[in-house]
Amino acid sequence: MENLTVKELVISTKGKLVLGDENNFVNDIIIDSRKANENNVFVAIVGENLDGHNFIQSAYDQGCRTFIKNDKVNIDLNQSDVNVIEVKDTEIALGDIAKYYKSKFEIPFIGITGSVGKTTTRDMVYAAVSSKYNSLKNEGNLNNQLGVPLTLFELNKEHECAVIEMGMSGFNEIEYLANIVNPKIGVISNIGLSHIEALGSQEGILKAKMEITTNFDSTSTLIVNGDDKFLSTLKNKDHAYTLKTFGFNKENDIYCEDFTMGEDSITFTCVIDGNKEEIFIPAVGEHNIYNAMAAILTGIALEIPLKNIKEGLKYYKATKMRLDIVKDNDLTIINDTYNASPDSMKAALKILGRYKERRVAILGDMFEMGEHAEYGHRLVGESTIGNVDLLITIGEDSRFISDEAKKLGLCSNSIYHFATKEDAINNLDDLIQKNDVVLVKASRGMKLEKIVEYLSK
Ligand code: ATP
Ligand code: MG
Repeated sequence: MENLTVKELVISTKGKLVLGDENNFVNDIIIDSRKANENNVFVAIVGENLDGHNFIQSAYDQGCRTFIKNDKVNIDLNQSDVNVIEVKDTEIALGDIAKYYKSKFEIPFIGITGSVGKTTTRDMVYAAVSSKYNSLKNEGNLNNQLGVPLTLFELNKEHECAVIEMGMSGFNEIEYLANIVNPKIGVISNIGLSHIEALGSQEGILKAKMEITTNFDSTSTLIVNGDDKFLSTLKNKDHAYTLKTFGFNKENDIYCEDFTMGEDSITFTCVIDGNKEEIFIPAVGEHNIYNAMAAILTGIALEIPLKNIKEGLKYYKATKMRLDIVKDNDLTIINDTYNASPDSMKAALKILGRYKERRVAILGDMFEMGEHAEYGHRLVGESTIGNVDLLITIGEDSRFISDEAKKLGLCSNSIYHFATKEDAINNLDDLIQKNDVVLVKASRGMKLEKIVEYLSK
């Protein structure tokens, strides 16, 4: 981060300097007191479990001298060498500083949202735009109202472009982030079922994702999956911005005509302005063709030559635990334990289905589906047909996966359900055979990486 003065912190947060000197400066903004040092400002965030105000002293002990706290909270920090800024709400203050800091950079900002594939799309877009621009992207999955500001603080004078993943779990969250980031280009990967509990319906999910266009004008571009049932409704309508679509359907601005799936890569033909372009990506799964096309349209919107975009995509690197295919212990393990929703389960099962060896799916519960839980898990059960030889489900709702698979004809000798991953681990030695290809996937909270660890041992 470039330096900010205490005065800039006060102005951007509309806060009050109750102690200290506005001419002092900071060179980083942190919310984790363990990272504190003398030159950063510690913003005391009130979280679900922890209150940052209780860590002000330990940040001070580590050398930190500038603090932002809520005005209702009293702290006992009267040392002469500290700067203390009081604000109404520290979380909003963090966003306000990010918005102010971001506005110092006149570079293209790209916002990426969607139900599934945000991180993957972000990484593909990053690969494509990095062919021309020194770019910033979020670390890991830092995509929420705290993660996005923290990402923006990583900006420095060397950056020429920023690719920002934006997540949400309810209405107005993308709007909040869009107001901070003000992206010129927005990408929506798809409208699935993630977070449907909070948003009521897929129409609700579409509306929430469309908040990415909050500040769009005629110079902005929205890039969407035009094959998506909900996003395709945006086509043939007037918008205040440019709309570009990608997909397999020929009516999209760019489309995939055919593809060859290798063991760890895909080569596909993408029709762009009537020209057939051969694109290579070091990733498998048809869904990654979509993600790569989102990256191509982003590169085109930034006027990056296609030659560079194609070269950049060759260097795409996935973020951990997302379709990570490893050969270990005479097994091929597809580690997709980072997270799961019906759409991403379906995508992963399709990948498993392509293998010739015995195909094993170890699938756990998908969370946050509310009243749609049974339906969503049954959809996954349906997707196991033709793609899975042995199905192992773990948890509570995943029983619907095995039940649906059984109903649709997967042999009951090939279906096992366990209440916990520990129960499953105790039985794995009997169930898994040499040379199996094993897909492991569930929601984050299921922590099925424990299964992967066991299988790799
Ligand atoms: P989160 O909401 O946790 O941030 P995300 O939207 O960033 O998730 P990723 O982490 O990219 O999504 O991918 C989650 C899962 O979805 C992975 O299993 C991945 O393989 C799969 N996936 C990625 N892209 C797509 C896509 N376009 N369609 C369906 N599934 C996808
Ligand atoms: Mg993500």
